[in-house]
Amino acid sequence: PSVFSAIEMAPRDPILGITEAFNADTNPAKINLGVGVYYDDNGKVPLLSCVQKAENILIEQPAPRTYLPIEGLAAYDKAVQELVFGADSAIVQERRAITVQAIGGTGALKIGADFLKRFSPASEVFISDPSWENHRALFESAGFKVNNYAYYDAATHGVNFEGMLAALKAMPQGAIVVLHACCHNPTGADLTSEQWDKVIDAVVTNGLIPFLDMAYQGFGAGIAEDGAVVRRFAATGVPLLVSNSFSKSFSLYGERVGALSVVASSAEEAGRLLSQLKRVVRTNYSNPPVHGGKVVATVLATPELRQLWEEELAAMRVRIKETRDTFVKKLKEKAPQHDFEFVRQQVGMFSYSGLTKEQVAKLREQSIYAVDTGRICVAALNSRNLDIVVDAIAKVL
Ligand code: PMP
Repeated sequence: PSVFSAIEMAPRDPILGITEAFNADTNPAKINLGVGVYYDDNGKVPLLSCVQKAENILIEQPAPRTYLPIEGLAAYDKAVQELVFGADSAIVQERRAITVQAIGGTGALKIGADFLKRFSPASEVFISDPSWENHRALFESAGFKVNNYAYYDAATHGVNFEGMLAALKAMPQGAIVVLHACCHNPTGADLTSEQWDKVIDAVVTNGLIPFLDMAYQGFGAGIAEDGAVVRRFAATGVPLLVSNSFSKSFSLYGERVGALSVVASSAEEAGRLLSQLKRVVRTNYSNPPVHGGKVVATVLATPELRQLWEEELAAMRVRIKETRDTFVKKLKEKAPQHDFEFVRQQVGMFSYSGLTKEQVAKLREQSIYAVDTGRICVAALNSRNLDIVVDAIAKVL
């Protein structure tokens, strides 16, 4: 027997497993609500005009494909840092933050996790219950023990805030707490501004290390509104990590564009942190790819393109909100004894719909695919499939 012969099959990724089952379904009317991708009203992943225009600019200035610096494209890192913290923020002005280009939001989380493991090896990590399914695996693979903190309350379809706050207060000093900055995945349930005040207070008082994951900036209330939590954390002066992703907000999934920002207490400290982060990157993949970073940097730094991006992102956000409204309205007609009003309160691409595992299985018999937990992607609904989905849900309730 070889070293490979005893290796067992790894468990299937729950979300990608749905896509596999969906792809194998021969029913032409099949609908996939299990995805984590924004589709337009035609059911297509959009190619944003701002991206096309930036690519045209880049094509007109052909450049050799040299390596980027380990920390990525300087213009990208600068533009991202200003987007995340605000160009006029003290953190940016005083050079207290460092931002490194990363391979998507996932890559940002991973380099942040490896960095923390090196310098805070005894910390435990706390993620929301539930959370994006990769959070646990990612921090575990960096060597951390990962725990849950109370978050979702199925009875109210909202946040169990008392439970969450109690959990934060009970965490040991130095614990790493992963927080969704906006548009919580998978539930769609976000904290109110007053609740964030209390969370920030608990994190600071208790000496926790906040790691804000912002994969959906601009899909909630707006670019600045969704980023407000990051700025509020940054203003406290505690050590802070922020991962962000442009997969959704630029519809650049396959280009893998994200970043990790770390806030230090001084420019001098920031320099030391950057040198160590570069070591993490260097020993993982050496340096990031060029194209996606150039596209995003070009859009963010070119006023007309940036304006266009903001409009295109707003259009995605508005379509999701309108879809929530129509979905709730139609369900009210078809299933008046059930209350789906909470779907309107949820934020971002996802909805914990309240559908049970059994109901999800029954939907699948009609070639409608959702996650077993009842998570549906609101951005996968459109004017052609909405009635079909609503009718099917009304039948399985
Ligand atoms: N964090 C959360 C909460 C996410 O939902 C996702 C992606 N779906 C990511 C991080 C990773 O983003 P990316 O696809 O850019 O790696």
